[in-house]
Amino acid sequence: MAMRTIPLLPEVEAYLAGQPLGAVIGGTTRPAAGGATFTTVDPGTGQVLAEVTACQPQEVDAAVQAAADAFVHPTWSGLSVPARCAMLHRLADAVEARKAIIAQLEALDCGKVYAQAEGDVQNFVDTMRYFLQLAVHAEYRTPLAVPRHEAWSVRQPWGPCGFIFPWNFPFLLAGWGIAPALAAGNTVVIKPAEDTPLSTIYLGQLAGEIGLPPGVINVVPGLGDPAGAALASHPGLRRMSFTGSPEVGRLVAEACGRNLVPVKLELGGKGAAVVFGDVPLEHTVDKLAQAITFHTGQVCCDATRWLVQDSIYDQFVRACVQRLSQVRVGYQLDADTEMGPVVSEKQRRRVLSYLSRGQAEGAAVLLEGGAADVCDRPGFYVRPALLAGSLDNVAAREEIFGPVAYLAPFRDEEEAIRLANSTDYGLANSVWTADMSRAARVAEALVAGNSWINAHNLFPHGVPYAGVKKSGLGGGVLSIHTFWDYLRSTSVVRPL
Ligand code: NAD
Repeated sequence: MAMRTIPLLPEVEAYLAGQPLGAVIGGTTRPAAGGATFTTVDPGTGQVLAEVTACQPQEVDAAVQAAADAFVHPTWSGLSVPARCAMLHRLADAVEARKAIIAQLEALDCGKVYAQAEGDVQNFVDTMRYFLQLAVHAEYRTPLAVPRHEAWSVRQPWGPCGFIFPWNFPFLLAGWGIAPALAAGNTVVIKPAEDTPLSTIYLGQLAGEIGLPPGVINVVPGLGDPAGAALASHPGLRRMSFTGSPEVGRLVAEACGRNLVPVKLELGGKGAAVVFGDVPLEHTVDKLAQAITFHTGQVCCDATRWLVQDSIYDQFVRACVQRLSQVRVGYQLDADTEMGPVVSEKQRRRVLSYLSRGQAEGAAVLLEGGAADVCDRPGFYVRPALLAGSLDNVAAREEIFGPVAYLAPFRDEEEAIRLANSTDYGLANSVWTADMSRAARVAEALVAGNSWINAHNLFPHGVPYAGVKKSGLGGGVLSIHTFWDYLRSTSVVRPL
């Protein structure tokens, strides 16, 4: 049966035809010195989508300078908070109006199922509006009651802020990162991931179209080293935010440390789902299957270790195998697709290598994953896989970033907590039970930034999202904590 493929919009075709796609620096789109470029590929077909400017340190330097100039320019620094927010609302509105265009670019570039890409774009809009609401209602000036002095503190934006993003949620994460910084009055330089730069470059250009002052949003596409490394080590930044792997996160933190630039790190995870024997079984299996296949398992906060009470373990495994065997793997723009490709051949090899290394270390194969073929689409497809056994196994310890879950049974609450916490990561876990007292107890005992109850992957605006241990530093994303991070505080005092 022929699959219905969502047709590309003329605007998307035109955007991809305008190559090479340039950096956006100080309001102009420009190539790199020496004309360096790289290509980005459709993971669903393996075909080149676009040639993109590969920024070198001099472009990064120019972008930081443009952000610094824009920060002090009266068209930005002279704006009142409501006027600045009104301008940024125009950006959110423009993104919403172009949702289908940006979602198609995102789906093509990331291999993301179209409906999920649309959700990511809407999330960007919602994130902008959330932080703009906070910005107009925030108290920037606080009187301090001290004897014999007049004193107050005042919060002000820092200046140019740097952002480095990974390839899995480029547009959504750009929103999570830059919305609080911009709402607080800073200017930004964004380095998107080299695998998925398209939607971020589009955003940079759109900012100019809606009249955001030049240099408020700058985009420097390029390779991790030199472009990301040049941004992370730039002394002209006042704050830095990195989302990506713990390995690169360390490099970024080291570089920022040398310049004493405050840094926020949002890193990887190896989350657990702790499933007690009293859950509605089919419903829980369905929710976890949805979580592990969501964006083909390339989700930092996914539940990749499924700890299941021994009373229902065998039954649970049978239901998981049945449910995940039915997942429809396909092209990301095909209407029936449940799970698209992984982002690159490199990522597919990574997933497959964890499956074989896990087996070599003794993991039982409950559902054999492996490479998948999709008719007429020579892309980077894999099938969902389930492994089981000792949690010392490499596939249970390390972040795979694919649709692979690792199962293990537990006896009681104490053992469940111990197993869930036996990891170097600390991003997000979930507890599944009908007993709400136990749910709250276990949720609080799990050492991570986020604990969810009877659900996985929950991100309501206003609830801080963060990682601890190897999963991050200084998070609080999506909440007022991050908004305050983008304002520095000055205390003022005079004797009476
Ligand atoms: P990555 O660390 O390889 O790359 C992330 C970014 O860093 C890219 O833009 C890359 O170009 C850049 N980079 C690479 N080398 C650099 C260097 N030397 N200096 C500065 N920048 C450099 O990560 P990835 O493979 O793109 O993304 C997957 C990782 O991101 C996973 O570990 C995932 O868990 C994590 N992640 C975390 C969150 C979160 O919110 N905690 C969200 C999404 C992804």
